[in-house]
Amino acid sequence: MSFKELGLAEPILRAIAAKGYENPTPIQAQAIPAVLSEGDVLAAAQTGTGKTAGFTLPMLHLLEQRRVARKPASPIDEVVAKGTKGARFPIRALILTPTRELAAQVAESVSTYGANLPLKAAVVFGGVGINPQIDKLRRGVDILIATPGRLLDLVNQRACDLSQVELLVLDEADRMLDMGFIPDVRRILKLLPEKIDGRRRQNLLFSATFSPEIKSLAGTFLHEPQTIEV
Ligand code: AMP
Repeated sequence: MSFKELGLAEPILRAIAAKGYENPTPIQAQAIPAVLSEGDVLAAAQTGTGKTAGFTLPMLHLLEQRRVARKPASPIDEVVAKGTKGARFPIRALILTPTRELAAQVAESVSTYGANLPLKAAVVFGGVGINPQIDKLRRGVDILIATPGRLLDLVNQRACDLSQVELLVLDEADRMLDMGFIPDVRRILKLLPEKIDGRRRQNLLFSATFSPEIKSLAGTFLHEPQTIEV
């Protein structure tokens, strides 16, 4: 099975080729078709298996496909958008990670694999100044990679609009649990739409292990997920 056979768009295939990947890893061979089918996914995958590309590549494909299909915003939409208090550009995909190191790594992957696409990505995490992150969000971001606490701070400052999120990824959910982030994750979940453009929001949960707590968290927001274990 090649990346091409998985049905990824040509600009994404070029980015994969530039990175030197020849074939999908086992997790990618399963996760890419599952994500492309637009359903929810519950995946058990350790770091080092290629899980990041497993969710990033099909996410980029879906976002770009829908961007192209969508009719351009009308002048009226523009005026309404300018008049809103929050950010002018709603986030379309949200990737939550437990640590800033992981957030930075995922952001690097998103920018590498999305290098030939017009989608904009940003990464936000705590422990650094919030104002540059606010400025970046105000300039427009399609894909946001975030740690949960800082994301909530940004929401409270009205710097980011989560009302249009089409796709949510919870990466390393077991570490989020260990670090006590699940209450923050649940707060974030409440800010996301159930449906967008008549399509149910897509949720992907990646975790190294499937503990009872992870299964219970998965049960609260995943809808009939495909389960992947490699
Ligand atoms: P991850 O598990 O997402 O942290 O990825 C682990 C490492 O595998 C990263 O350095 C990736 O660049 C690399 N990688 C991901 N997918 C592939 C692939 N299909 N072929 C070769 N290397 C890959």
